[in-house]
Parts: sequence; C-alpha cells; structure tokens
Amino acid sequence: MKVAILGAGESGVGAALLAAQQGVEVWVSDKGKIADSFKKELEQNRLPYEEGEHTWEKIAQADLVIKSPGIPDKVPLIQQLLAKGIPVISEIEWASRYTNTPIIGITGSNGKTTTTTLLFHLLAQAGKDVAMAGNVGKSFARQLTESQKELYVLELSSFQLDGIDHFKPWLALLLNITPDHLDRYDYQLEKYIQSKFRITKNQGQGDQFIYFGADPNIESHRELIPENVEELVIGEEMMQGKTILANQESFDLSTTRLRGKHNALNALFAVHAAQACGVTAPQIRAALERFHPVAHRLESVATIDGVEYINDSKATNVDAVFYALQAMDKPIVWVVGGVDKGNDYDPLWPLVQEKVKAIVCLGLDNKKIIEKFGSLGIPISETDSAAKAVQESRQLSKTGEVVLLSPACASFDLFKNYIDRGDQFREAVLHWESE
Ligand code: ADP
Repeated sequence: MKVAILGAGESGVGAALLAAQQGVEVWVSDKGKIADSFKKELEQNRLPYEEGEHTWEKIAQADLVIKSPGIPDKVPLIQQLLAKGIPVISEIEWASRYTNTPIIGITGSNGKTTTTTLLFHLLAQAGKDVAMAGNVGKSFARQLTESQKELYVLELSSFQLDGIDHFKPWLALLLNITPDHLDRYDYQLEKYIQSKFRITKNQGQGDQFIYFGADPNIESHRELIPENVEELVIGEEMMQGKTILANQESFDLSTTRLRGKHNALNALFAVHAAQACGVTAPQIRAALERFHPVAHRLESVATIDGVEYINDSKATNVDAVFYALQAMDKPIVWVVGGVDKGNDYDPLWPLVQEKVKAIVCLGLDNKKIIEKFGSLGIPISETDSAAKAVQESRQLSKTGEVVLLSPACASFDLFKNYIDRGDQFREAVLHWESE
C-alpha cells in the first residue's frame, strides 16, 4: 500500500512515522514550508517529502491520503483525489487502525484541552497506564509509535472528526457546541453540529456517550446518538456552588485551581469519565487538588498593587469569554480584540454591563467592539501591543480589581498565535512587576 500525507505538521509527521513503522510506503507533501524540526525528523527516518508544492503525479499514485486537519475539504486537490476514488482520511482515523486499546475521545467547542489534560491527570495519578494525545501535545499516530498504553485520552477537533471513517471511542465526551470555525462549514451551524456528533457515530454496545444536556445544539440532535450506546447526561443540577456531584460522590472545587462554572462543567466530564475507568472518589479528590490548569486559560499571572492580571488568551470565541466574565467576582478591566471571526457580542452584553469598568482593545481593527460597547459610557481605549495594553490597564485599574485578557478573537493581526499573545501579555505584566 502507498500512502500520501498532506501537511507536515505534528499530525502529518506522526502519521508518516507510524506508516514507516508499519512498513507502508509513504510520500509527504506540504504546500508551505516545513518546520525545521519536522524536516529533520523526516530526514532521519528517510521519509521522502516535498515542500512548497503538491505534486499531483506523486500524490495521485497513493492508495490512501492522510490529510492535515488544517486543509479544508473544499480545496481543488482534495476534490480531485475524491473524484479519482482515493480515500482521504484524518491522522486520527489512520492511527486508530493500528490499535485495539480503548480510547476516550473528547470534543466540544470549548474546554477540550482543559478536560483532556484534567482527565489524563486523574487517570495517571491513580496509576493507570494512560497517554494523552490528539489535538494536545503529541499526535495520536506518533504516540502509537512510541509506546502502547492500556488507555488513550484524545482531544479531537471537528476537523479531525470530519476525516474519520471507522474510528470508535469507548467513551465519547461532547462538552458543548457553540458557533466556531463556521468559515469551514459554509457558515452553517448545522454542518458544524453534525461534525461534532461524528464522535459517537461508530459507537455501539458497551460504549458510553457523555454530553451536556443543557446545550440546545446537543439536545436538539440527540437522534444522532446510535441506539445501543449508553448515554450519560451532564446536567446543571450536578453543580452546587463550587461543589460537583458525580455518582453519589461530591467533589469540592473551592480548594482546587479550577475556577469558574465552565471549569466545574469540565471537571464533571473528567470526573465521570475517570469513575467509568474505575478511579475511586478519594483518588479523584487527591488528584483534583494537585491539578494545574493549562497556560492561557484563565491563568492567574500575578497580583500587583492589589490588581490580579489574568491571561485567557485562548478565549478566541464569544462563548469562552462569556464564561471568563462570569467567573470573575471583581470589577474587570477587559482586554479584548484581534481578528473577529464574525462574532456576535450580544450574549456578552449583560455581563459586560454588570462587571466591566473599562475596555482596552488589543487589535488592529477595533471598530466593532467600540460600536457594540460604546454606549455603555465606560472608558474604551485602543492599543496595538501587549505591552501597551498592560500599561493602559494599569492606569485604568485599582486595588481589588482584575485585568482580564479574554480577547474573543483570533490573534494573527498582531501576534503569531494565541500562545504568543498570552506570552507577551504575561511578560509585560511580570516585567513591570520586577521593575
Ligand atoms: P479548547 O481546547 O476546546 O479550545 P480550552 O480548554 O483550551 O478549550 O479552553 C479554551 C477557552 O475556553 C479558554 O478561554 C477557557 O477558559 C474557555 N473554556 C474552557 N472550558 C469551557 C467550557 N466548558 N465552556 C466554555 N468555555 C470554556
């Protein structure tokens, strides 16, 4: 069998390494420039590749094509391959063909990384032989080349799910569905919902599907859940203040680093999944205490002159900001802006009115934000660097308040990515603290 791999990022290189290990002939093609570290890996493993172009003659010789999640199905190359009858799959689908180990798959519009890392932590702390892969850290294919575990926890994006065929998780978690990435789904929410539900499509007897029952986009599509799958519905009643309830056990989050209602929801998913894997309540309680949330998600950077600076740079859509604002119990100087993805800011209005005392825009084009919130009569200023945004926030805040970077937008107008934006924000805060 010959396999062509399109895109030489983490998932493409992982897929190529797995192919090589399985003795499958492989050709890697990337239309852009391949990062040096990945190029080195391909060379060390004698894996043939091209960069800067896709040579049709080479790719069309393949029996199977593995496509990076970043490449839309619409592009002519993919359409031509499909027209020629060559199957195009995702790296997740490819990797899953080489293991029979139970898989826990996690998807949703927001909270995937937090829930995946938390669940992995709960399982690992309880001594399970588990690995975490997918959209976070290593690709699943690379993970399989390194070691076989007894259990895998995978973070799955809708793009990865679009390319599955037989992939079947034992536990599937669907956290929430709110509008995101609609540019890849013909601006139709319905298509995006269908994509998210693919996580359960191959599940059957003995498998479990855990989802948030209060999410209207999930609730209205329950007919997509296969018949024999056991359903576990996460509900609002499982949250009582900072305590969560799972299978007659309660877990107090007030002494953990998980803050906000959204993290209580994420914890409910992770705790239920850990229980399904046989982890006991005392083990879960001990591990929850030791969990450190991932950076750039409501990350408390420092408290300076009584003002807490919070980096939520990963909040790249309106729903994530909604939960961030909701989680704050002090007046907020809100740092917001960047590349708007067609945002509807209306859901934020009541929270902004109640909690935000000043807005600092951090983006090249802030017109929409200014138009939306201008009538509130609170100070709104514009900045074009993290350092300036921090400086401006410092002027606008006083003891007992928070400065919250929770942008609701993508970052590439001023930064490389959300990590760069969050890092620059953190550095600007810490730099000034050390002055
Ligand atoms: P993802 O991997 O799905 O992007 P993350 O865990 O990285 O999710 O969090 C992304 C952003 O969404 C962060 O700003 C975080 O605070 C927020 N968030 C986390 N969990 C949820 C949730 N359950 N609902 C809404 N927003 C959330």
